[in-house]
Amino acid sequence: MSKTDPGRACAIVWLRNDLRLADNPALQAAIEAGFVPVCVYLHAPGEEGEWPPGAASDAWRHRSLAALDADLRARGSRLLLRHGPSEAALAGLVRETGATAVFWNRKYEPATQARDAGIKRRLKEQGIQAESFNAALLFEPWSLATQQGGPYKVFTPFWRNALGQWRLPVLRHAPERLPALARELAGLPLDALGLKPAPDWDRGFWETWQPGEAGAHEALEVFTDGALRGYRSERDRPDRVGTSLLSPHLHFGEIAPWRIAASLEQGRTAANGADVDAFLRELGWREFAWHLLHHFPQTTTQNLNSRFADFQWARQDPAQLQAWREGRTGVPIVDAGMRELWHTGYMHNRVRMIVASWLTKHMRQHWLQGARWFWDTLVDADLASNTLGWQWVAGTGADAAPYFRVFNPVTQARKFDPDARYITRWVPELSALPTGARFAPWESPELRARLAPAYPAMPMVDLAQGRDAALAAYKRSSPPPR
Ligand SMILES: Cc1cc2nc3c(=O)[nH]c(=O)nc-3n(C[C@H](O)[C@H](O)[C@H](O)COP(=O)(O)OP(=O)(O)OC[C@H]3O[C@@H](n4cnc5c(N)ncnc54)[C@H](O)[C@@H]3O)c2cc1C
Repeated sequence: MSKTDPGRACAIVWLRNDLRLADNPALQAAIEAGFVPVCVYLHAPGEEGEWPPGAASDAWRHRSLAALDADLRARGSRLLLRHGPSEAALAGLVRETGATAVFWNRKYEPATQARDAGIKRRLKEQGIQAESFNAALLFEPWSLATQQGGPYKVFTPFWRNALGQWRLPVLRHAPERLPALARELAGLPLDALGLKPAPDWDRGFWETWQPGEAGAHEALEVFTDGALRGYRSERDRPDRVGTSLLSPHLHFGEIAPWRIAASLEQGRTAANGADVDAFLRELGWREFAWHLLHHFPQTTTQNLNSRFADFQWARQDPAQLQAWREGRTGVPIVDAGMRELWHTGYMHNRVRMIVASWLTKHMRQHWLQGARWFWDTLVDADLASNTLGWQWVAGTGADAAPYFRVFNPVTQARKFDPDARYITRWVPELSALPTGARFAPWESPELRARLAPAYPAMPMVDLAQGRDAALAAYKRSSPPPR
């Protein structure tokens, strides 16, 4: 350990969803001002309002914190772990260390924004330098506005404006060495945070994922060397690795979005330019999601579109909901998606749309039922993107697919999983059926009974009836006020 002279001032660097050392503005600010950075993670899930992190997020965070601590130790420092309440824990640390500054990177969830603003104000009142930075976004939610000065509700003009202001920040490598305090501070062991699942139902996750900064950089490299070429057409194919798999790394701040953008820009060629643009546009949707959540914080639980205020969702049916969660709906592409989610903590974007459409249209369950399940089971569960995704599919959100656009899960599967490879991987009890029968096994009842007896004979909701009922409910709901 590189122990520092006791006279040198220290700063608390409060790490949250910015679990990285490269491109970390709060850490950088502490170092550049000559402070000894005391890196701390405070466990306070109760401060996240209605959306404390779900179980899959906790499982990821456990590993990401371990990786960050190892990275800090390799540089002569360490990650201090403590329980919240955050404000009291920070005050305690300031007293113990004599720190004169507290730095952090901003979070934009409504509950944490309000908490952080209060903490900053009170620290400043006590004469402590309190500063926050942007580590998570290309454009902070308030930095883009329509010509009238209001928030955007439509993606395309939002992104056009964003691209016009596109400036890549300077990239910063992780510091090679970090000074440390001369004396050890008491911290909790990682296991004491209770993030690690017991029993280890998450073991399937780690066949796919490597949480932490090194894993994030590796995922970026794998993507730029591989699936980026052809991303525009392949990103909709769940049977292929056609996307970057960067979403959980982005959510936990293990890599800066601007590093991803810079890396793609550096590798831009005439041959892959359209793919680079298509990928940046998806990063743009992530930015749009945070823009919307900041300006419409109520939308984590309420429809953005007031037309749905009196929409008649079907009565809650716990057995049907449970069958959806467990991938037992009798619709192969839906079941495949829900099982992928359970096994890996992830689901392909196209399939997220299909399972969400099935839940909100054919089953006519409120989108919050789905949003809550995703929240608990996705390793990339993200309040902005999850809210946007569910409201978009349900037709209740900004720039949403209209409610009357009901995905036919069989047509979708035939188009995007044409050889039924994705279906077969996650619903192996269909594997003895001829490929063509795996999309809608109820259309081949004898084959299904003989070759796939373990699979439901019929979908839980008849496709045509479910669609008609959804459209009828939509027609009954009030048109938007003029
Ligand atoms: C119902 C529903 C719920 C969703 N919930 C989440 C969620 O909780 N967290 C989450 O990160 N994404 C969510 N998404 C968006 C999308 O499915 C994932 O971001 C994407 O599948 C992640 O895979 P990837 O990193 O390989 O994506 P890529 O195709 O490689 O895209 C690159 C990055 O762009 C961003 N991105 C891509 N598509 C979207 C999108 N539609 N909306 C917002 N950002 C996007 C992500 O940060 C992603 O990592 C949801 C979509 C739907 C339809």
